[in-house]
Amino acid sequence: MSVRKCRWCGVAFKNAGGPGRPREFCKRSHRQRLYEAERAAAKLGLGSDDVLVSKRELDALRDRIYVLEAAVEDVRSDLAGSHDLQDYADAYVHLLEGALNVVGARIEPRAIGS
Ligand SMILES: [Zn+2]
Repeated sequence: MSVRKCRWCGVAFKNAGGPGRPREFCKRSHRQRLYEAERAAAKLGLGSDDVLVSKRELDALRDRIYVLEAAVEDVRSDLAGSHDLQDYADAYVHLLEGALNVVGARIEPRAIGS
């Protein structure tokens, strides 16, 4: 049993050992989605390193990252010179909130170069 990441969605999944090629996708439909995205990229003439994503989804992800960056800056500033345990506990909660806002965020590509 090994843990692999789906080539489409990036989610980790357990791959049962055994004969044959190891699975590359967490579910069968994700193999199809990658195939369609690669075909779309070929039609658009995208290069092997190119990915086409929704601007709205990209902006939403950037917003989440910005919130996490702001939390990191807050914590860096708040803890500068502090040795108070409560300050560290508060910082942890603040950082965790920002991190949880990013964890699990996914962008579904419309086209992927292959
Ligand atoms: Zn998947």
